[in-house]
Amino acid sequence: MQTNILEYLEKTVKRFPEKTAFADSDVALSFQEFTDRAKSIGTYFAQKKCFRAPVIVYMKKSPEFLAAFFGVVYSGCFYIPIDDEMPRRRIELILENAKAEYMICDAGTREAAEKFDFSGSIVLYDDCVTTAIEETRLEEIREKVLDIDPVCVFYTSGSTGVPKGVVGCHRGIIDYIDQLSEVLGFDETNVFANQTPLYWDASMKEIYATLKYGATTYLVPKELFMFPVQLVEYLNENKINTVCWVVSALTMISAFGTFDTIKPQYLKTVTFCGEVFPVKQFNIWKKELPEVDFFNLYGPTETTGVSTYYHADRLFEENESIPIGKAFKNTEIFLLDKEGKEVPDGETGEICIRGSGVTLGYYGAMEKTEEVFVQNPQNPFYFDRIYRTGDMAFRDSEGNLVFASRKDHQIKHMGHRIELGEIEADVDCVEGVRGCCCVYVKEKEKIVLFYVGEMEKKELTTELKERLPRYMLPNAIMKVEQIPLTLNGKRDRIKMQQMYLEQASRGKRRK
Ligand code: AMP
Repeated sequence: MQTNILEYLEKTVKRFPEKTAFADSDVALSFQEFTDRAKSIGTYFAQKKCFRAPVIVYMKKSPEFLAAFFGVVYSGCFYIPIDDEMPRRRIELILENAKAEYMICDAGTREAAEKFDFSGSIVLYDDCVTTAIEETRLEEIREKVLDIDPVCVFYTSGSTGVPKGVVGCHRGIIDYIDQLSEVLGFDETNVFANQTPLYWDASMKEIYATLKYGATTYLVPKELFMFPVQLVEYLNENKINTVCWVVSALTMISAFGTFDTIKPQYLKTVTFCGEVFPVKQFNIWKKELPEVDFFNLYGPTETTGVSTYYHADRLFEENESIPIGKAFKNTEIFLLDKEGKEVPDGETGEICIRGSGVTLGYYGAMEKTEEVFVQNPQNPFYFDRIYRTGDMAFRDSEGNLVFASRKDHQIKHMGHRIELGEIEADVDCVEGVRGCCCVYVKEKEKIVLFYVGEMEKKELTTELKERLPRYMLPNAIMKVEQIPLTLNGKRDRIKMQQMYLEQASRGKRRK
């Protein structure tokens, strides 16, 4: 039985030593080069007697960044990725929470790293990667590491603005990658194009599948996500056959008519996650690329990666949602009401997740952990931990889960219970709208709609009156060039609320 994620790499390097594991526009590392670098870095930290401790990895996105992750794991420690794209304040909060003894930097991040109030030691990647490998030392460490030990900490946004560090362990990652790969049929022929930042758990899909099977992952230059035609050219040049992207990245291609100019020639599998995929955009992909297998993946960082999947193998009607489907093997999902009882079939309840994928909780935040990683309320007999997601869903007549909303996107407005997602689904169907997001500005009691598209505000207002009940009509509509996104590529609702408030206060001043 596999108990350590490094076994993926060690089996694969024997089969494909010369094959490219990870590449970007500057560097390509073969499995042998990748393993050697990781073992050198592992030896460096082993010599420092750093064990079962966090190590910050602060580098530019690159194959070397990934080698540093696995170097940290070789030493029996766990990596915390941070990136030069993160706002300074966020990095400060992470450093404060992690209290790591070491931080690995590269030439590009060193200067910035030295300006942080970091009490540990800053180590240059180029220095630790040249350490002579000590196999015996690394083997001794391996003997001591258990499958319940941490591998990494991914920081997610907390509702209070303080990021929470989710601790993933060997067992959870192995379980996740094994089940995901079985469903998606991964093998050594997969060529992935990574879109998501490496400090986000979503990137684990291609990174760990690459190590497990001897596949290849290209790290797509970030700028390309602003130029859809060039992006598809990139996919074709590198013969990419698998993309596991967030919805906004896929929508950027479909909403701008890219397929009229160019189509991805090699794509076989497309997965999307992180948000609801608007049906209109999904249908464009499905119609243009009928041979491609599309999967809707759902899950929070707190359960390592994704927990459910749905093979979206047909077109959807305007008023339908693409289900999030069924739980992966060795994962159980149940829908609970406020009292902790399972809701009857067809009714909406909170998604609760049980299984080996449930992570070890939030780093250095036991109280926060206990709020959401809780005893299964249906089991009073023994320790049985579940994660309460705060996401609401119901089961359709075929037993597939359908995502309804986040608990906190359900609002009470003029006495009515409203799902903001329901308004968005209607707006997304309007011809001339290419994307939208609805936020609720509590202090003003206003539903505010942001949208991108050719349609003018006035026309959209008239159209929405036809579609939505009066109480669901947005109180304000803002046409924007782009829906503001978070670092992870999700719609940035906090930013939109601020934009509305700023606009409202400017309006007031003018009066
Ligand atoms: P993160 O931990 O950043 O990956 O975010 C997890 C959250 O994203 C979930 O709790 C959901 O609210 C949302 N999410 C993830 N996947 C989906 C999906 N396929 N459909 C709708 N929402 C999703």
